[in-house]
Amino acid sequence: MQMSRRSPPAAPPAPPDPLTPRQRAADLLQTLRLVWLASPRHSLTYAATTLAGSALPAANLYVGKLLLDEVARAAQGGVTYRALLVLLGVQVALGVLGSLLSTVQGAAQQLLGDSLQHGVSRRILDKASGMSVEAFEHAETYDQLQQAYREVGSRPLGVATQLVGLAGAVVTLVSVGALMARLGVWVLPLVLLASLPGVWVSNKFGVENYRMLRWQTHDARVQNYLGGLLTSDQLVKEVRLFGFEPYLLRRWRDYYLGFRRQLEDIIRRRSRWGFGAALASALLTGLASALILRRAANGQITVGDFSIFVLGIAQVQGTVAGLLNGVSGIYQNLLYMRNLFDFLEKPGRDLDAGEEWRGSIETVEFQDVAFRYPLTERDVLRGVSFTVRRGEALALVGENGAGKTTVVKLLTRLFEPTGGRILLNGLDASRFSPRSVQRQMSIIFQDFGQYQMSARENVAIAEVGRLEDDPGVEGAVRQAGAAFVDTLPQGIDTPLGRLFQGGRQLSGGQWQRLALARLYFRDASVLVFDEPTAALDARAEFETIEALRAQAGERITVLISHRFSTVRLADQIVLLEGGVVSEAGSHAELIARGGQYAALYALQARGYTAEAGKTTAR
Ligand code: ADP
Repeated sequence: MQMSRRSPPAAPPAPPDPLTPRQRAADLLQTLRLVWLASPRHSLTYAATTLAGSALPAANLYVGKLLLDEVARAAQGGVTYRALLVLLGVQVALGVLGSLLSTVQGAAQQLLGDSLQHGVSRRILDKASGMSVEAFEHAETYDQLQQAYREVGSRPLGVATQLVGLAGAVVTLVSVGALMARLGVWVLPLVLLASLPGVWVSNKFGVENYRMLRWQTHDARVQNYLGGLLTSDQLVKEVRLFGFEPYLLRRWRDYYLGFRRQLEDIIRRRSRWGFGAALASALLTGLASALILRRAANGQITVGDFSIFVLGIAQVQGTVAGLLNGVSGIYQNLLYMRNLFDFLEKPGRDLDAGEEWRGSIETVEFQDVAFRYPLTERDVLRGVSFTVRRGEALALVGENGAGKTTVVKLLTRLFEPTGGRILLNGLDASRFSPRSVQRQMSIIFQDFGQYQMSARENVAIAEVGRLEDDPGVEGAVRQAGAAFVDTLPQGIDTPLGRLFQGGRQLSGGQWQRLALARLYFRDASVLVFDEPTAALDARAEFETIEALRAQAGERITVLISHRFSTVRLADQIVLLEGGVVSEAGSHAELIARGGQYAALYALQARGYTAEAGKTTAR
């Protein structure tokens, strides 16, 4: 039943389309804006310290060269100890400056990263909380949300640091390059060239790696789900009894093996290419060294110049690698950022759009309502009409898949009808903001929430503004028959569930009562019971409906049930068959009519009688 409600598993998400340079530039700007907004002060500090620090290698190289040359000259006499000490002093000062800059840079980076992570997480969570229920049922959007949230810790900061690092690398390269250019025209180009192959390889495989991970998102979710089944406390009984652990494990492992094959393939190819790149780079560096040594043999360069070459090579190659890796890193992170922006830019449904509904709902009227789920081809509801007034209970009956839950989703404004109208007090519901209408409704779902919070929160979460309303919470608890909370160690404030330390686990029935208390706690004019047959035991369901009838004149009750003993209490019964209303009326009317309802009722009544007979016989 649960399965039939979910949308069918989607195909794995397509690999991202390569971004056009224009799009990439726009995303880059948008990312920079995001970083800047997260913390202007730390962005500025980080950028300034990085850029200043990037000029230090060249300064160090140059002072080192001067020092070496002076030492060489000192060997021939003519240089004072004082002159050497001054140079040493400059070198030490540069070292101290470097440490200072990197300390400030590190601190700024950490704080910026933290602000950024918080800022982006908030935007994602804001977006997610405004997303329609429908979007959650759409596998691709859900994947996007999951990915955006999972990587929020590393990606945006990655773009920020890489971008600044890039500018820093340019500063370093230009300054060190200028020093090296003095050693001969070919040296710098050769050294630069030598650093390219390695970078190209790591760039190529970085992108492939990202694509692979993105491809795997969907399968990884399935695998994760399978693992979740094996580790779930709620499902362990069923899993053990039916003994399908080996099946789950096997499927879980099959997914792993699939991932593993892709990983091995990528590693194999990367190693081959990496080795080739190292070889090419060694040859080019060797060539540059040979050129320098020839000049040395001709007495054209000093010891200090040679030191610039030897130390500069490592500096240049390291910087070029950093630079190009930075570019590819930015490219990869931008793919992530695009995913994030796509998600954030998804047209959301503004739950507050429309007029504000005020006061209670006195009548609900479905007028020829039709509904089709997004991306599907079939109307699951057609021409559904009924009216229910304050003080009345309406029961929806019908086989699984007939459309009962869909009616409830439309009534509660989780979805909007694709045809026809829903009138509230005679006014078109679509005029009013979904949230303001929803405030007038309370519901117990078949798969209601078991919140791993206190018992109070489990009840009062239905109207958080009244979290401290003790008499209200108590009243709802009593009305729901959840008096057991008084016996909990800390009463209504006892933490529930096993997920966190100190939580008390409740029985399934006790959780049901709390969900019922939640339903009552909200002062709503429409109460909806979505198949409480599953959520409530027969007595609770019967008592609940009886109690509701006792409060006649106050509320509208809509109930989905398979239990005819409850259904018959409703003032009005609507039988759905394949998305259309096939019969409607009171229990007595429908029985008198002798149609499908009467047949179903007779079937179940026979079952009850047989049950009762057995019990008596025992
Ligand atoms: P009932 O509550 O009577 O069992 P539902 O209202 O849940 O029936 O479902 C009615 C029909 O709509 C079914 O055919 C079901 O497969 C389909 N359906 C339900 N949810 C979705 C969804 N999110 N996307 C597509 N089809 C759906």
